[in-house]
Amino acid sequence: MNTPVTSPQRPSTQKSFTKTVASGCDTYDAIIVGSGIGGLTTAALLSKCFKKKILVLEQHFQPGGLTHDFQRKGKFHWDVGLHYVGEMAPGSLARSAFDYLSEDRLKWQKMPDPFEKFIYPDFTFAVSSDPNKYLADLIHQFPEEETAIRQYFKDIEKASSWVVTNAFLEVIPRFIRGLVGTIVKGNEKLAKETTQYYLNRHFQDDRLKSLLTSQWGDYGLPPSRSSFGIHSIVVNHYLKGAWYPVGGGGAIAKALIPTIERSGGTVMTRHKVTEIIVTSDRVKGVNVQKVSASGSLAKPIETMVYHAPVVISDAGAYTTFLKLMPNDASFPESASIRSLSAQNKDTDKSTIVTLYLGLKESPRKLGFQGENHWIYMTYDHEQVDAIDSLKETAITDASNVYSSCYLTFPSLKDPMAKGDTAEIIASADYDFFEPWANHDWKKRGEQYETLKLNISNALIQLVEKQYPGFKDLIEYQELATPLTFQHFINNQKGEIYGVPFTANRFDQTWTRARTSIKNLYLTGADAFTPGVVGAMWGGTKAAGLVQGILGFPRVMLALLMGGYR
Ligand SMILES: Cc1cc2nc3c(=O)[nH]c(=O)nc-3n(C[C@H](O)[C@H](O)[C@H](O)COP(=O)(O)OP(=O)(O)OC[C@H]3O[C@@H](n4cnc5c(N)ncnc54)[C@H](O)[C@@H]3O)c2cc1C
Repeated sequence: MNTPVTSPQRPSTQKSFTKTVASGCDTYDAIIVGSGIGGLTTAALLSKCFKKKILVLEQHFQPGGLTHDFQRKGKFHWDVGLHYVGEMAPGSLARSAFDYLSEDRLKWQKMPDPFEKFIYPDFTFAVSSDPNKYLADLIHQFPEEETAIRQYFKDIEKASSWVVTNAFLEVIPRFIRGLVGTIVKGNEKLAKETTQYYLNRHFQDDRLKSLLTSQWGDYGLPPSRSSFGIHSIVVNHYLKGAWYPVGGGGAIAKALIPTIERSGGTVMTRHKVTEIIVTSDRVKGVNVQKVSASGSLAKPIETMVYHAPVVISDAGAYTTFLKLMPNDASFPESASIRSLSAQNKDTDKSTIVTLYLGLKESPRKLGFQGENHWIYMTYDHEQVDAIDSLKETAITDASNVYSSCYLTFPSLKDPMAKGDTAEIIASADYDFFEPWANHDWKKRGEQYETLKLNISNALIQLVEKQYPGFKDLIEYQELATPLTFQHFINNQKGEIYGVPFTANRFDQTWTRARTSIKNLYLTGADAFTPGVVGAMWGGTKAAGLVQGILGFPRVMLALLMGGYR
């Protein structure tokens, strides 16, 4: 056991940053739980902008959270939770932010144009990287809906700007917060409508309604459950096309960690925070277990305590408030989260399977250029994939259980790729896999492996129907289930997007960076919106708030001007 060391506290001029002592004789200004893009952003900003020494604790053996990637056979490389990122045109604010955080080490590759294809039984729609062409193509396809289509583009802008402004309100000084809130309030109702309600109000053609919501997998809720606000955020995000980090998603952590280390900070993998220590309503540090190489917590190698005056959690609101806070205390957030969970449906927590494929030959052979493919065998996005209702039969035969999937090719997007690769993603109910939840990773038994094989074959069959010859390209395959996400990301039940973006999420006071506990903050997707860029903005808010009233303006100035480089 690593014994915490105590030594006199260093006098500090800043309220938030009284230096205290960490386990192993090191002192840190703040501890960050989780090294997803939110955690790394906050750590890099506090390090670079404010010269703070930050300890990032990550339970996985690889840093990066959902942006981490992995390899097999030395040549096949796949991403886990990053397939394309919008708003990365040189000069854009989000791009400047990543340039600053990575000190220009991170490079972005523009995806081909069109960057996505929406595939339906009787037509395919290619999405242009030029918003004007996208608009014109929609009007060309559905001329009788022209007025509604034009209005839709305006409403996307309005609803997404409300979501963004609303999310940033907490970093705006109190004396002008009310004024800003009032200015954008007019769009609140629009953002809180369900996507389905909005579409039914404006459009006649059911095929067009389906087409416009083809990307719902990017926020995990079908039109009847998602808010128009989150739909707008995602559509707006990709209006000018998409980019991919050179070297894959893992390149992000590789590029940001040196920024953290330069100020004396550290990112420690295989360190799982088991509790955030709170005394007299303020955080004091964290209890940690060092995780074995297998990831099993049954035999933790070591336990330790780290102290710091500030703790920032990237582990998501559910994990932070329901798993990491001391059991004997009650916090307003915990009660409110339980109440929201009770109001929402279980299926609001988006869960998936991902099939990782290594290919013998380039998929260019079949005409793929690197664009994503949303394949739908039906126009009905509400029709939940059958995997959850086919409980018993899917174990022996999963053919025909899937009517939709997302197909992407990491190797065609990455100029540094060695081998040819593809990924197929489809939704899958966590409950279906729950019987194996208590088994260790890679030790879930024959029946689980058979089930995975059947699901894999069903997904390959679905793509093969659309693109004959696809299955002959396959050399290697491996399936991740909701249990894989639960194991590697430590979420509640394998959910991939954190707190669901139903309209009632906007009414919660805990889906933000500031918490009710002194010096405890949230970062990442749950502090802003899902997605790599959304989680990054969550990280900027947390870094700003930690530094007090002028913190956020200083962060933004640095990102805009590179002034603190
Ligand atoms: C399949 C999939 C595809 C996606 N595709 C895209 C895409 O193409 N484009 C896009 O922009 N976004 C995409 N996303 C969403 C995006 O990846 C996430 O919204 C974003 O990366 C979330 O970042 P985060 O920092 O909030 O959290 P995470 O990346 O989830 O990081 C949280 C980290 O905290 C760690 N952690 C949790 N508990 C503890 C603990 N107790 N102790 C220590 N560490 C802990 C976890 O291991 C994890 O590393 C996708 C997501 C998925 C799942």
